[in-house]
Amino acid sequence: MRRSRVATAVLAIALAGAMTACGDSTKDVDKEAGSGNNAGALVGVTMPTKSSERWIHDGDNVKTALEKLGYKVDLQYAENDIPTQVNQIENQITKGAKLLIIASIDGTAITTQLQQAADNKIPVIAYDRLIRKSKNVDYYATFDNFKVGVQQASSLLTGLKIKNADGTDGTATGPFNVELFAGSPDDNNATFFFSGAMSILQPYIDKGTLVVKSGQTDFKTVAILRWDPATAQKRMEDILTKTYSSGAKVDGVLSPYDGLSIGILSALKSNGYGTAGQAYPVVTGQDAELASVKSIIAGEQYSTIYKDTRELASVTVTMADAVLKGEKPEVNNTKDYENGEKVVPSYLLDPVVVDKTNYQKVLVDSGYYTQEQLG
Ligand code: BGC
Repeated sequence: MRRSRVATAVLAIALAGAMTACGDSTKDVDKEAGSGNNAGALVGVTMPTKSSERWIHDGDNVKTALEKLGYKVDLQYAENDIPTQVNQIENQITKGAKLLIIASIDGTAITTQLQQAADNKIPVIAYDRLIRKSKNVDYYATFDNFKVGVQQASSLLTGLKIKNADGTDGTATGPFNVELFAGSPDDNNATFFFSGAMSILQPYIDKGTLVVKSGQTDFKTVAILRWDPATAQKRMEDILTKTYSSGAKVDGVLSPYDGLSIGILSALKSNGYGTAGQAYPVVTGQDAELASVKSIIAGEQYSTIYKDTRELASVTVTMADAVLKGEKPEVNNTKDYENGEKVVPSYLLDPVVVDKTNYQKVLVDSGYYTQEQLG
């Protein structure tokens, strides 16, 4: 087993060397990958975890679309364990993958593997999460992450009735107690979501309409490592105990991801929220995961951000196919995603706010969920 892997690696390196020898030796990834011999090639796809439904959809959608184009696919999940993901990428290189699509766990932890990919002339597409601190990332397909944060914060204001859904001023003036959560500090998206959200919330905090009663407002303090729902639940419980035990109530929670929202809501529930006398605060989310959409319909979670994983998969596979054919893929952003080494050419899709008023139209009519799934 070991022996054949090594043999394949040697062959892959030899082939790559041969390609460089007879082709041009510049580092133009499109030219190198597009030798025209990539029909039916192996594509390595690595996703962070199956513990969140969105990544299962992402993986399935990418795999199906690549296979439709005749490519072979090695799809791997790493259960949020960095060494596992590192191994998976190394294995895919060894197996002779001609392109890698990576949704990283820690955007800075795979630099060595990406160098290995570059040495083998294997182009890399960062999927949804930017890979940082490496020049060996060729393209990035994602949603407009700053906008996700803006939408989460705007929806929080709408839920509190400070704003109307059309962006005009609402009737409520506060002050409202809110608490803030951010995603995993090693995921570049988490900073974008939080910055987007704070660009909307900060002015309201400054003028006292919103009060972060715990005093915890900086990214490092409010970030939840690996997007872990149990950690978010614990943090919410701690805040309720320390800050709200003397009768003050939480009116809103900025939550960046549905899994965290579920943890947050359950901490609130244990503290007596969600009853006739004490409604849940306005809690945001992201990903339109089934459990959270049901929670929105039940009047618990207030909103989520829908990112159509079908579209992201389709854009990414179109990009991959172009690169493998030696063509230039379409991008629509060449300025915002600086990864510490270079600005990665990106394709950004549009996220959509979903709440009780529009889930039917956005999620059911588009075929993302069936009515039966939502109960
Ligand atoms: C994704 C979000 C997701 C989060 C947790 C982020 O990188 O962009 O859609 O909620 O990871 O999985």
